[in-house]
Amino acid sequence: MRSSNDIVDIVSTYVQLKRRGANYVGLCPFHNEKTGSFSVNRNMQIFKCFGCGVSGNVFGFIERTENISFPEAVQFLADRAGIKLPEKTNDGYDNSKRNLKERIATINKEAATYYYRMLRSNEGRNAMQYLKNRGLSDETINSFGLGFAGRYSDGLYKYIKSKGYSDEELVSSGLFTINEKGAYDKFWDRVIFPIMDPRGRVIAFGGRIMSKAENAPKYLNSPETELFNKSENLYGLHLAKKTKEKFFLLAEGYMDVIRRPRKSFSCSPKDIWMS
Ligand SMILES: [Zn+2]
Repeated sequence: MRSSNDIVDIVSTYVQLKRRGANYVGLCPFHNEKTGSFSVNRNMQIFKCFGCGVSGNVFGFIERTENISFPEAVQFLADRAGIKLPEKTNDGYDNSKRNLKERIATINKEAATYYYRMLRSNEGRNAMQYLKNRGLSDETINSFGLGFAGRYSDGLYKYIKSKGYSDEELVSSGLFTINEKGAYDKFWDRVIFPIMDPRGRVIAFGGRIMSKAENAPKYLNSPETELFNKSENLYGLHLAKKTKEKFFLLAEGYMDVIRRPRKSFSCSPKDIWMS
């Protein structure tokens, strides 16, 4: 699998590399520097930083940049290369649960994409204006993949249903209520904050209401699902983990996290869940 994840290709998605002889050189992603002492060798499939001394192969690189364990790095690169790893069947791991988690992650990804486009459509104009009025730049709005759930109570349901998911799966995602009267989206007329896990998978959503409807909570979150455990996750961690700062700032609300000034992690949903 390492052969389908060439180290120069992988590192290039994080670091701007220039060819120098047999090596590729760039600014080290693991310490702050102004001249490149970070070197990648394609023949040997290894990297080394002559500034801070970090070195390793492509798995080690992903472990460090994504802040994940070795098995997670293997999974990460397998996903990227479109390789299906052999499933463990005799170690007690419940495969049906894992499959359900993956299905929910896929449904969430579709939903996040739908909300994202909605915010940038005509229907999302007021919501976009609201975010701008709160002082958010386009860059910030994109970095956090913010979206909008429209005014129809089944807009998302119709969109996702057309992609071939069963009602049972859709209900397990926590995004829908389905009963004898019909199917309803959990979120509508709300600005949407996708909640990502450290791997960048969309695991849940938060929504802030736009209308002044009475009896409706100002903020609404996805319920816990097979994929989403509220006490195990921190909003924004998938971005914060990439900082080179020596500290973290903890903030309480979505907007508090988003409005922190930051330079070091500009990215777009294309890097995260829209791939
Ligand atoms: Zn370094």
